Amino acid sequence: MGDRIEKLIGRLAPEPVCDDCLAERLDLGLEEVRQQIHALTGTRSHERTTARCTLCGSSKIGTRRIGR
Ligand SMILES: [Zn+2]
Repeated sequence: MGDRIEKLIGRLAPEPVCDDCLAERLDLGLEEVRQQIHALTGTRSHERTTARCTLCGSSKIGTRRIGR
């Protein structure tokens, strides 16, 4: 499951994507998504950022892959 989240974020990189879009695209609960994102951002390959989501266009907290 974390894999699918990481893949989707990676595909959209370097654009950020919000939690709601991740949950909707992958048909997951928001809590599950946030848990996985928490694990991803702990590795420093991803960061939390408030920016315009590349999928829905809203400015809110989202996640993007950084580096590489
Ligand atoms: Zn969004």
